[in-house]
Amino acid sequence: MNTINQKPAFIPKVYCNIFGHDFKISRNVTLHVKEYKCKTCKQQATTNSNGKLTILTPKFREINNTLEKVYNRRTARLAPPIFTESDLGPPIIA
Ligand SMILES: [Zn+2]
Repeated sequence: MNTINQKPAFIPKVYCNIFGHDFKISRNVTLHVKEYKCKTCKQQATTNSNGKLTILTPKFREINNTLEKVYNRRTARLAPPIFTESDLGPPIIA
């Protein structure tokens, strides 16, 4: 028996596989680390230590939670950093 059970929910993923994800920022973790969510298929991604987008796994979410805590503690004490985000390219997922 070989039943094919394709739900309509699979279509956005197919669309993204062909045309790429349409990521929007869903959360700012630090100045350079953000979490993204695809408008089409709801896939979540985050900036990794290389500044590239990677799929948001529970491990990365944990790292981001820690980063956010450290970042908030530092920015509460220090003046805001002067970096801009323009040195980071547009989000591209490999
Ligand atoms: Zn997508």
